[in-house]
Amino acid sequence: MISTNPSRSAPSVAALDLTVRRVRHPLEMRRVRVVRTAEVTPGVANGSRCVTFAGERLHHFVSASFDDHVKLVLPAVPGTELVLPVLGPNGPTRPEGAPPVVLRDYTPRRFDVHTGELDIELDLHGDGPAATWARHAVAGQEAGIGGPRGSFLVPTAFPWHLLIGDESALPAICRRLEELPAGVRAFVVASTATPASRRQLTSRATLDVTWCNSDDELLAKVHAFPLPAKPGYTWAAGESQVMRTLRGILRDEHQLEGEHTRVTAYWKRGVADHHEAVV
Ligand SMILES: Cc1cc2nc3c(=O)[nH]c(=O)nc-3n(C[C@H](O)[C@H](O)[C@H](O)COP(=O)(O)OP(=O)(O)OC[C@H]3O[C@@H](n4cnc5c(N)ncnc54)[C@H](O)[C@@H]3O)c2cc1C
Repeated sequence: MISTNPSRSAPSVAALDLTVRRVRHPLEMRRVRVVRTAEVTPGVANGSRCVTFAGERLHHFVSASFDDHVKLVLPAVPGTELVLPVLGPNGPTRPEGAPPVVLRDYTPRRFDVHTGELDIELDLHGDGPAATWARHAVAGQEAGIGGPRGSFLVPTAFPWHLLIGDESALPAICRRLEELPAGVRAFVVASTATPASRRQLTSRATLDVTWCNSDDELLAKVHAFPLPAKPGYTWAAGESQVMRTLRGILRDEHQLEGEHTRVTAYWKRGVADHHEAVV
């Protein structure tokens, strides 16, 4: 029987609050230690590794959005003492005479408020300092976690969510999928270096996943994607040039731009530590 009770039917799109909001968090640099590590893609040589961190000051950690990032701080010379940078109005600065550190952006994949443990999933892409560190990380090793400085809050109530990205974006995409409620649709278009690096994606939302083997395939799939009518939210992250091309496709082929579309370069080929909003 079809219910005619209006209070039982889904809210009309016009009644949904689809306002995207930014919030700031008090900025903090925390000393943490590795508790354990786990392969996200077991058996894949250069897959992803989940590193779980704990530390006294992590108990007050807040990450309000899947789009958040923290600064992972590591000694520039592996095995040397870690002196954390000091956070000031102009960003992190190294105390005089302190050994150098590297800072890289990562998504807080999961935070357990009960244990105070933070998971970060790092793609073991090559020989960058963070990827190399993650490949060899063992329990007891020290690191720093700065931020998140703020969060970009995207309502889960959008009738559909399009999530696009490569392996660097998968932690954010997986987190978002876990947050989405039943009754909305989630479309994922994701690329991995090898089919073995693909993951099981789960969500309460109705899920439609397209895996790709290359950036070109990802761009072609998005180009041809049969999206439903607006409103929906589109989020994408990955390599800088790929994201620039993608931005054009979203704008020209799907008329997706403005506040319901967010495209970010999470890394740039040949460049260390790159982070850029693609507008
Ligand atoms: C907001 C934000 C959130 C992010 N979240 C995550 C996350 O949760 N998990 C994750 O794995 N990454 C994430 N990244 C990407 C990560 O910060 C970069 O990949 C970072 O450059 C890795 O540092 P590195 O020291 O290993 O390499 P770098 O020293 O930065 O770079 C060394 C070389 O490796 C190349 N390179 C860097 N990253 C990649 C890559 N992903 N694939 C192939 N080549 C690469 C560079 O072009 C450069 O030539 C995020 C980035 C941003 C901006």
